[in-house]
Amino acid sequence: MDEDRIRLQCRTYLRAMREAFGEAALPLYASKAASFKQIYRIMQEEGMGIDVVSVGEICTAHAVGFPLERAYFHSNNKTDADILYAMERGVGYFVVDNREELDAIERVASEKGSVQKILLRLTPGIDPHTYEAVSTGNVDSKFGSAIETGQAEEITTYALTLPHLHLAGFHCHVGSQVFDADVFLRSAEIMLRFMAEMRDKHGYLAEELDLGGGFGVRYLAEDPVMNIADTVKTVGESVQALCRQLGLPLPAIRMEPGRSIVAEAGMTLYTVGTVKQIPGYKNYVSVDGGMTDNPRFALYRSPYTVLLANRTEKAEAEEQMRCSVVGRCCESGDILQENVSLPCDVTRDDLVAVLTTGAYNYAMSSNYNRLPRPPVIMVKKGNARLVVKRETFEDLVRNDLD
Ligand code: PLP
Repeated sequence: MDEDRIRLQCRTYLRAMREAFGEAALPLYASKAASFKQIYRIMQEEGMGIDVVSVGEICTAHAVGFPLERAYFHSNNKTDADILYAMERGVGYFVVDNREELDAIERVASEKGSVQKILLRLTPGIDPHTYEAVSTGNVDSKFGSAIETGQAEEITTYALTLPHLHLAGFHCHVGSQVFDADVFLRSAEIMLRFMAEMRDKHGYLAEELDLGGGFGVRYLAEDPVMNIADTVKTVGESVQALCRQLGLPLPAIRMEPGRSIVAEAGMTLYTVGTVKQIPGYKNYVSVDGGMTDNPRFALYRSPYTVLLANRTEKAEAEEQMRCSVVGRCCESGDILQENVSLPCDVTRDDLVAVLTTGAYNYAMSSNYNRLPRPPVIMVKKGNARLVVKRETFEDLVRNDLD
């Protein structure tokens, strides 16, 4: 992972959001995209907030002393133990998904004698036209309370009755790999209109509005380039204009970019093991990793750019073959990418690079087939350092009892 690139993305969001929404604005790094100690340290140094979705992410951020008052705790099902853990570590905000959770947070806060700041997660009813598995803002989503059905209003008025909760505002997230600024404009408009409605009907004025993440990144050369600064500026102009029109003070705006902070900063290097050609059918290049370090093709058929990495200049001039780059799991679906072009003489010990793997790769990795996870290396100004160690066989059997 390229540390300078990660820092650059953070600074781009910080500057763009402050220019667009004023000093109270804050980008929250959606740490589900890549979660390990050093990433939280970088976020702390860059002055970012974080979005966390589990006690595991909270515990990792806490381990490097991340100021957890700048953490927003998501998830659609926080257990009582999760809630207590997060409160005891001083997590600033809970993003509440549903009424049961609201009751549980109220109960734990009242037992502790504290008041917990919360945002309510709402679904604005927008289909961002990306993959179904990463689309979350539609009315029938598993996440949040729908504005269209009246459930958002119900949960808002209910939250306002609970004495140990402070309703700071609202949250929405419509999906991922969104390239069209219009999707963010439409969801911001629906949320602001809902805020104005809550003010008019119930006298409640939200202080914060979290517009979620989802900015698209380039996996393939033909993917569009999303200009973060321009998009944030466009959303800013539209939010400011609508606030004026609705007579709303500008809320403190949050955005939750995950993928667009780390994806393009990451690359995964594999060593080729076997090359299998089935004449008239298919070619396979097997590498020393696979769905255990990158399950995204298996899950969503995600596209990636795959290159031969140890002889790049020559590689393009050589005769190419179409192949599937596959992993070493005992599973036919263990595919990193199909229809890849690699030189016909690709062979054992060659290196294959899969680009744009900084987000939702290591974070989604597993030990399926008892494969140990690879290390994560951070590169900064030409120097490399280990930030997550390669797993050992001892790690694999650590929790097994004799
Ligand atoms: N916020 C929420 C609530 C999410 O569910 C997600 C992704 O799933 C994100 C932010 C980050 O999205 P992305 O990585 O596409 O920016």
